[in-house]
Amino acid sequence: MIASQPDLFDIGERLSEPTEAEPRPPLDRCTPALSGTGPENQTCRSCKNKTATFSGSGKRFLKCEVMRRHWTHGGATDIKARWDACSHWRPATGETQTEFYENAIVKRQV
Ligand code: SF4
Repeated sequence: MIASQPDLFDIGERLSEPTEAEPRPPLDRCTPALSGTGPENQTCRSCKNKTATFSGSGKRFLKCEVMRRHWTHGGATDIKARWDACSHWRPATGETQTEFYENAIVKRQV
């Protein structure tokens, strides 16, 4: 006869198994926001977040630093320097967007 044993791992009611797969991270995205949503007349070329990676043979690939955790070792996460800036654009000088435009206005007035 089997005696009733206490449940050592009594955690209460258990959740049902998930029925749908977890949404995958946006691995097919190479930019944090749509190209063209950033400041006018700016491109990835002038953005501080643009960065270059190099293959073993020395070939250069441009990537967006903001998307680093989604980078692949293929072209899916490559960006082009000529793409219009997205809303995460930051001036390469290290200023914020606001500082960049305030300084540009000051320079224009001088
Ligand atoms: S504008 Fe800057 S933040 Fe946006 S995709 Fe290009 S490099 Fe990344």
